[in-house]
Amino acid sequence: MKAIRRLTVRPVLPEPLRPLSDLARNLRWSWHAETRDLFRSVDPECWAASGRDPVRLLGAVPAERLGELAEDRRFVRRLAAAADDLDHYMTGDRWYQTQSRAQAQAQSAGLPAAVAYFSPEFGITAALPQYSGGLGILAGDHLKAASDLGVPLIGVGLLYRHGYFRQSLSRDGWQQEHYPVLDPDELPLTLLKETDGTPAQVHLALPGGKELRARLWLAQVGRVPLLLLDSDVEENDLGERGVTDRLYGGGSEHRLLQEMLLGIGGVRAVRTYCRLTGHAEPEVFHTNEGHAGFLGLERIAELCDRGSEFEPALEAVRAGTVFTTHTPVPAGIDRFDRQLVARHFGPGAELPRIDVERVLRLGMETYPGGEPNLFNMAVMGLRLAQRANGVSLLHGGVSREMFSGLWPGFDADEVPITSVTNGVHAPTWVAPEVFRLGARQIGVQRTEDALTVGGSDRWDSVADIPDEDIWELRRTLREQLVTEVRERLRASWRQRGAGTAELGWIDGVLDPDVLTIGFARRVPSYKRLTLMLRDRDRLTDLLLHPERPVQIVVAGKAHPADDGGKRLIQELVRFADDPRVRHRVVFLPDYGMAMAQRLYPGCDIWLNNPLRPLEACGTSGMKAALNGCLNVSVLDGWWDEWFRPDFGWAIPTADGAGTDPDRRDDIEAAALYDLLEQRITPRFYERGPSGLPDRWIEMVRRTLSLLGPKVLAGRMVREYVERLYAPAAAAHRAMDPDAARGLAEWKSRVRAAWPGVSVDHVETGTATATAELGSTLSLRVRVDLGELAPDDVEVQAVSGRVDSEDRITEATAVPLKPVGGPDLEGRWAYEGPLALDRTGTFGYTVRILPAHPLLASGAELGLVAVPSDELVEAAGLLMR
Ligand SMILES: *Cc1c(COP(=O)(O)O)cnc(C)c1O
Repeated sequence: MKAIRRLTVRPVLPEPLRPLSDLARNLRWSWHAETRDLFRSVDPECWAASGRDPVRLLGAVPAERLGELAEDRRFVRRLAAAADDLDHYMTGDRWYQTQSRAQAQAQSAGLPAAVAYFSPEFGITAALPQYSGGLGILAGDHLKAASDLGVPLIGVGLLYRHGYFRQSLSRDGWQQEHYPVLDPDELPLTLLKETDGTPAQVHLALPGGKELRARLWLAQVGRVPLLLLDSDVEENDLGERGVTDRLYGGGSEHRLLQEMLLGIGGVRAVRTYCRLTGHAEPEVFHTNEGHAGFLGLERIAELCDRGSEFEPALEAVRAGTVFTTHTPVPAGIDRFDRQLVARHFGPGAELPRIDVERVLRLGMETYPGGEPNLFNMAVMGLRLAQRANGVSLLHGGVSREMFSGLWPGFDADEVPITSVTNGVHAPTWVAPEVFRLGARQIGVQRTEDALTVGGSDRWDSVADIPDEDIWELRRTLREQLVTEVRERLRASWRQRGAGTAELGWIDGVLDPDVLTIGFARRVPSYKRLTLMLRDRDRLTDLLLHPERPVQIVVAGKAHPADDGGKRLIQELVRFADDPRVRHRVVFLPDYGMAMAQRLYPGCDIWLNNPLRPLEACGTSGMKAALNGCLNVSVLDGWWDEWFRPDFGWAIPTADGAGTDPDRRDDIEAAALYDLLEQRITPRFYERGPSGLPDRWIEMVRRTLSLLGPKVLAGRMVREYVERLYAPAAAAHRAMDPDAARGLAEWKSRVRAAWPGVSVDHVETGTATATAELGSTLSLRVRVDLGELAPDDVEVQAVSGRVDSEDRITEATAVPLKPVGGPDLEGRWAYEGPLALDRTGTFGYTVRILPAHPLLASGAELGLVAVPSDELVEAAGLLMR
């Protein structure tokens, strides 16, 4: 019989067990093994059946068992200790509080009272499946690391009724998608309520007099609240109820509504949360990718409602906004039809106080090659945020290049987009066995500190761990993976229609003593899932090598609309189904956090072969590294930054311009096989005098001690605090209504006057054709500032090496001093010394930039005046 309605009856816990409920609702259990152990001992069978999910566990434990535990004094004592530990974690001072006090003592501006962090997806735990891949996991790791460090973050996202899809395989290896319904009552969430007990809601106005409402769920991520907006409420029409149905599903309008709900509704949710709980209001708003970009518009509208004009409100909002871009290709950016956006804003829709034209202009691609009819979320993100960053050094450079059209007149390296390299939340991703080895070496507390706050000194003690212990750990982890793989493979084959009798061979799949390679990630084409299949004979030889075999575990989901990706999966599955190799290569369906947590530690090699530079950062290799797994990767993303031959391998690339993509795959695949045959497998299988692979073990040790402190999300969040949040908070505070109005007026005056600004004359003291290192030139410049005054600008000497086309590279800019003016023609004189501090071909020039104390970068307005070509010729400005 089919039920007409489904509801969840929550257990009533006996009084002595009440703290279990708080422990289950705070997601800190997901990165705290001790709390998980406690839940396991509630009922080991139920624990396994619940998928290791405390909320489900408590819903499933028989009442008799609960009664028994309430009488069990040892259990109750353990429970009290766990509750006490959580309480201490929640209320004690952590890194941020120490930093704040130090800053207060130094009388500096002080860290933000709160930061709101917006993301379209959050991967916190498998028990809250609201992520599709790296972007979401990164967001989850950001919240957890912020919690560990005591950073007062508020997370904001959407609650998707179906999350992302679950993957299985058809008999012939084609990806099948399932969308299980997630019942919020069965998830670790609580509904945010008004003081009168009714559910809190936010409302958005839609065209045609319609309304979109959302209720607010709260996930408690350690110290960090995560607000999830859910449009599935009865007051909504059917269409609106479906806005938060699934992650990255549906057409363009559906996505626009999701993003409006996330950005605009998200700000309203934060205001509601702060009003109801007394939480400090955020001083900084951080948007993880462009999807939440409308949050800036909502905050402009808030200021306009309080009487501000648009331009000053824009300045005030920009000052406190941080935008992180994750996409190294224009095709990866979210863009909407301009008309679609126009219909959803203005009178009769959202933000009626803001002129629709102004909204549209913020997302307009105003650079050469831009598409006038599209609204670009990343472009809006950059215009609404005074601070922006990419997610690795390399990606920072790629982003500056990619968006340089928004700052015409500036070289790409001056585009105001910096980078903060991603990190991963070690307590989530380090296997308990690895943690225990650390704890045995340096103690529990220092191990926890090493994983959260970081610091290379704490990691140095890895050097003292004996070879045998490291090798035994590696084998244990590999063996656990082998067991896990067999279980998952058996389940997958059953689902593909095989009977138990056909599956005896699965007991012989993988070998705990064979070099194990992992490859798991989403399956967009640039990640090249099937590169390893380029030469199947060579791969087969590697798998079946009589002395030095390898085994490979592969996993990954293709986007439901991406048939190309599904074909790649099928190709791989078919290869892995071949009885000749199926004991050495497996494809596991339904890649997600639960699998990932077992997979990374059990592998010896983590393989990554994207098309460089399309991997903005990549994080799975970092998680592998934290467990002593070595990386073999194309020099892309984080690996380009931190690779060293003493702890990993770089796959040589053929990414020079003009290489045919097919040929490039051939070359790079061949390079990968070479590495595996000649360098990697011999190193793994060779035995030193002690009978252990000591050179391999040394690489494991170096991976841990050298990469460990770098790849931490704690390091990343500290960088965000120090380099972006703190300056953004200071800028936000400086931007009171008068300052904002002043800055807006100044910008508009400077923009209007800029055509009248020029460099008129340049003179150098001792301009000979060759010069000696260490000598100084004196520069004298005359500039025309038109309607502007010397206070409005900075005149700079820019110098550095020059390339064959006379372009200055690695430029340094030094301000020149105003020394007189205006002369009879209204021109001003500037001068200053120019040190010849580099040998070789050297060049310099001068330029004028707008200058104002509230700008974060000289390039902010995209305005610059440089000498005309004639002047360059006449002055012989470039010297070789
Ligand atoms: C870490 C992780 C990712 C991201 O991996 P990349 O290397 O950045 O592609 C994706 N999915 C899951 C489940 C992860 O844990």
